[in-house]
Amino acid sequence: MIKLSGEALAGDQQFGIKPSAISQFAGEIAAAAKAGLQVALVIGGGNIFRGMSDSAKGMDRASADYMGMLATIMNALAVQDALEKMGCDTRVMSAIPMQAVAEPYIRRRAIRHLEKGRVVICAAGTGNPYFTTDTAAALRAMELKTEAIIKATKVDGVYDKDPMKYDDAVKYESITYLETLEKRLGVMDSTATSLAMDNDMPIIVFNLFEEGNIGRVVRGEKIGTIVHG
Ligand code: UDP
Repeated sequence: MIKLSGEALAGDQQFGIKPSAISQFAGEIAAAAKAGLQVALVIGGGNIFRGMSDSAKGMDRASADYMGMLATIMNALAVQDALEKMGCDTRVMSAIPMQAVAEPYIRRRAIRHLEKGRVVICAAGTGNPYFTTDTAAALRAMELKTEAIIKATKVDGVYDKDPMKYDDAVKYESITYLETLEKRLGVMDSTATSLAMDNDMPIIVFNLFEEGNIGRVVRGEKIGTIVHG
């Protein structure tokens, strides 16, 4: 299970979708799938709309969250386009039924797609407001019985403080779920981390923007930080 935040699709832009940024990591995902690995993706929407952001101020939270979920569907279609251009078979499965553009998410069907070597792109998060796509990634990882959640970020692991702001920030090779929660390290939100913790689903945090990293992490090479029990 690979969790891609919306910002990964924006490249060097602050907002929106940049196809050239997507094709960079899509190539690595396609290669992993072609090598026989079963790959499911959960795509975020923060590059377009977030329910809790300033731009949603004054809106009813649930309505804003539904807008956020719709944003993830746009992102999922962009990633599907990039993967299919690379000859990779994909299915977008949406937690909010939208028949003209995506299949509805049905667990057994998703598993079948994975078995057939198709990359399953899970869109619309959990389908419920007040959740995030991190939680959707944890939930789908459990349902689809994936080996791990691979959380693609801008930094190369989990640090004791923000490495973008502090030069003396120290990276963890591994850390427990509880420590990330207690220290509020923001690996994933607390709902997602708790769900992973309760079901012993390891989370690997790594830098998406370093070339070859997706291949390294799916081959089991030790990169980034592993969050475990
Ligand atoms: N969202 C939601 N329920 C979900 C998943 C997402 O309501 O199960 C909404 C929520 O408003 C969130 C937005 O969709 O802010 C975009 O998702 P997220 O913030 O997780 O995207 P990312 O940060 O990964 O780009």
